[in-house]
Amino acid sequence: MIAHLRHLTRLAGRGHSRLASSASTSYLIDQPEYGFLKELGLEINNPGVYSGQWQGRGPTITSYDPGTGQAIATVRQGTVQELQQAIGLGVEAYKQWRQVPAPVRGEIVRQIGDELRKYKEPLGKLVSLEVGKIYSEGQGEVQEFIDICDYAVGLSRIYSGQLINSERADHTILEAWRPLGLVGVISAYNFPNAVFGWNAAIALTTGNSVLWKGAPSTPLVSVATTKIVAEVLRRNNLPPVVTLCQGGTDVGQSLVSDKRVNLVSFTGSCKTGQDVGVEVQRRFGKVILELGGNNALIIDSSANLKMALDAALFGCIGTSGQRCTTTRRIIVHEQLHDQFVTSLVAKYKQLIPKIGHQLDGQTLVGPVHTQQNVDSYKTAIEEAKALGGTVAFGGKVLERSGYYVEPTVITGLPHDASVVHRETFAPIVYVLKAKSVDEAISWNNEVEQGLSSAIFTENISQAFKWIGARGSDCGIVNINTTTNGAEIGGAFGGEKATGGGRESGSDAWKQYCKRATITVNHSGELACAQGVVFNVE
Ligand code: NAD
Repeated sequence: MIAHLRHLTRLAGRGHSRLASSASTSYLIDQPEYGFLKELGLEINNPGVYSGQWQGRGPTITSYDPGTGQAIATVRQGTVQELQQAIGLGVEAYKQWRQVPAPVRGEIVRQIGDELRKYKEPLGKLVSLEVGKIYSEGQGEVQEFIDICDYAVGLSRIYSGQLINSERADHTILEAWRPLGLVGVISAYNFPNAVFGWNAAIALTTGNSVLWKGAPSTPLVSVATTKIVAEVLRRNNLPPVVTLCQGGTDVGQSLVSDKRVNLVSFTGSCKTGQDVGVEVQRRFGKVILELGGNNALIIDSSANLKMALDAALFGCIGTSGQRCTTTRRIIVHEQLHDQFVTSLVAKYKQLIPKIGHQLDGQTLVGPVHTQQNVDSYKTAIEEAKALGGTVAFGGKVLERSGYYVEPTVITGLPHDASVVHRETFAPIVYVLKAKSVDEAISWNNEVEQGLSSAIFTENISQAFKWIGARGSDCGIVNINTTTNGAEIGGAFGGEKATGGGRESGSDAWKQYCKRATITVNHSGELACAQGVVFNVE
């Protein structure tokens, strides 16, 4: 904490950009309390491209601590040409990898999980430092990667096709799942480690190679994570079945439009995701889109209010409102609305002393990631006020170095106000008053996005309506728990403008495969399907 206060004093009044700054800059990596960065093999200047060797001939980018605004270290990004090389190497590596038996591929993924266990503490701290999420969330993010590795190891021995009854005598129909080839992963800043992990563990297990482009503002997590994976590949004398090319939009666009990338798994905003989806479809590639959300928590008149309040607190404020599954709207039954708002505001007040640097053990609310998040926070609050909303709590940017805003509760807006329908990546929640669960469900469903949703109810009829065909239209439809914090065992993703993709558990592995339908004729005679006769003597 003392170190962080020192940074705050040192940085007071300074402006910060993400461009590489002058040689006189002092970097956190040089300070003893950030020794964990060196444990991860990071240096002041790190190459941001891995394709069997480390390199990086593109612009150098500085990574900043959102909690102080101070530079952490720098990364030399890749060029489009380096991306092309990485694609070529990834395609070649795939040709070897696809021949490795699936359980042996699973064994490699098991080793990746074990290597991550060794580095969980420093890597989790780096995730916290670079994104701005609190210590336990940084550790939890790496844990997700470890968990999906365990899941993938099991999957490697059990994923399978099926045998289907044929209508023709002595014919058998088989269904088999084959790898696609090279899978490109483009990830967002808010989950810089786990999103790659979800994709890579399953894609590798099913026989694909993986090329990753992480977000430009979290390049150190990308480099440190890839170093951990690369060490496992090196120990096993494997070709670069995982490659990395850090870069900006030019590198991202080039990856998306390249026909050699068989599947693009894109996580990011709806707007960029739509462009990515159209471009990949244009070349008949496959795409997984994991885009924005505008997630609602519904509180029915029968709800357990204490539990609902706790769910709202973590749902709205966890990761300072920067999860795709963050609770952005709370739709409360009119009988409970006023009582709920009063209790929620009382809880929010208790969090004010808990706003602080993300690596301080006392902190529950860290900074938002960049000035852009602060600006969109301010814009949303001004717009909400102009539309007649009341700021029931918060609403201010904190006057200190780093990017700190007050968690904010806004009431009194119409359910369909423009600002309510927009995803603002900051800790703002709009509380809406509904007459019934039916009305609440229709409001839940009226936004463009369809990622996560939850209802608090003790009424079994309302609960089953919620999960039925007339209920929530989201990919995640929870009862009596939060909208955020999904487990890896289920398929993760959402409908409508969230993109329709699914990652992680359940049968999401099928998206990393092509399906082969195989008809085997063991009758000794040729017979057409549907009784068609087509022959000449
Ligand atoms: P973003 O769309 O700005 O960037 C995401 C990634 O896309 C970055 O790596 C970026 O460099 C790259 N990119 C930008 N333009 C591109 C282009 N034209 N072609 C290819 N790549 C391009 O998103 P962000 O601000 O980093 O992340 C926040 C958004 O991500 C939010 O909307 C959030 O809801 C969403 N998100 C969704 C999920 C999910 O699983 N549904 C998870 C995390 C974040």
